[in-house]
Amino acid sequence: MHISALELHAATSYEDAAELLSRLSPDVRLLAGGTDVLVDLKNNGNGVSHLVTLERIDAMHGITEEADGLRIGALTTITELDESPLISGGYEIIRDAASQMATRQIRNTATIGGNIAGANPCADLPPVLIVLGAIAVVFSKQGPRELPLQDLITGPRETILAQDELLASIVVPRPPARFGAAYARFGLRKGNSIAVATAAASLILDNDGAVHDVHIALGAVAPKPVEVDAAKLWLEGRKLNGDSFDEVARAAMEAAQPISDLRGSAEYRRELVGVLTRRALQAAEQRAKG
Ligand SMILES: Cc1cc2nc3c(=O)[nH]c(=O)nc-3n(C[C@H](O)[C@H](O)[C@H](O)COP(=O)(O)OP(=O)(O)OC[C@H]3O[C@@H](n4cnc5c(N)ncnc54)[C@H](O)[C@@H]3O)c2cc1C
Repeated sequence: MHISALELHAATSYEDAAELLSRLSPDVRLLAGGTDVLVDLKNNGNGVSHLVTLERIDAMHGITEEADGLRIGALTTITELDESPLISGGYEIIRDAASQMATRQIRNTATIGGNIAGANPCADLPPVLIVLGAIAVVFSKQGPRELPLQDLITGPRETILAQDELLASIVVPRPPARFGAAYARFGLRKGNSIAVATAAASLILDNDGAVHDVHIALGAVAPKPVEVDAAKLWLEGRKLNGDSFDEVARAAMEAAQPISDLRGSAEYRRELVGVLTRRALQAAEQRAKG
């Protein structure tokens, strides 16, 4: 397989990128780090003759601390997420995921925007960002609009983004006091293996040790990240103990819709979901305790 001839367009602003996408649609793809899209074009590039690179849009790079939380430009690399001192104070769950993804070489190039917009069901960052209540800022010829990150991904390799829209940044609200969040992931080996199943959890602990505002999201076990709403409702105001961990693990296993593939059977993945959900919730509680 090889990539057929492509014309490369370097967008210099959001407006420029949106205009290029609108004009060249439908035989155009956006290029961020290229770790996914270039493989995809090799295997399935028919009908694509233009690539729009976002590299020159300065506003899309890096992490900034703002009044409402962290703004992470869509071109921020996984290595930058892993190494940034701003990923602390409740945001550590982002590093939990970033540090376990792929290889150093891939992490140096791969971006958060590509990880989300690629909408691969086993992508590591979407479940993490969902339990943090992240907002996606998208940009089209009509200007910017914001939506909850969980509404962006609609299915395997499918998003709500229109042909002329791009993901510009992600805003992650500032975590409140006594907040904790953690990520648990299972891959078939330690380095460079995509996830077989993942669980992300966040919660707030009150002074009596009861948990509030619990969020659990699962990855790699459904066409898109799954939120475990039953666990959220059931846990509200309760303390975490053996029974509540059992109940939440059961709810997560029921919410998962895993498939069988070369990395594991549906039954194996469902069992993993129970184990990983417990681990994530337990680690989130520890972080909330400080
Ligand atoms: C060897 C290897 C190992 C990997 N391991 C992992 C892993 O462990 N975990 C994991 O989650 N992923 C993994 N991946 C997948 C991939 O590296 C990541 O999903 C990565 O974050 C994609 O980012 P990118 O910048 O390279 O995206 P690209 O390849 O540039 O783009 C991916 C898709 O998103 C679109 N896109 C990119 N940016 C935007 C934007 N700002 N707005 C709208 N659309 C956009 C592109 O058009 C394309 O369709 C692996 C890939 C490889 C090759």
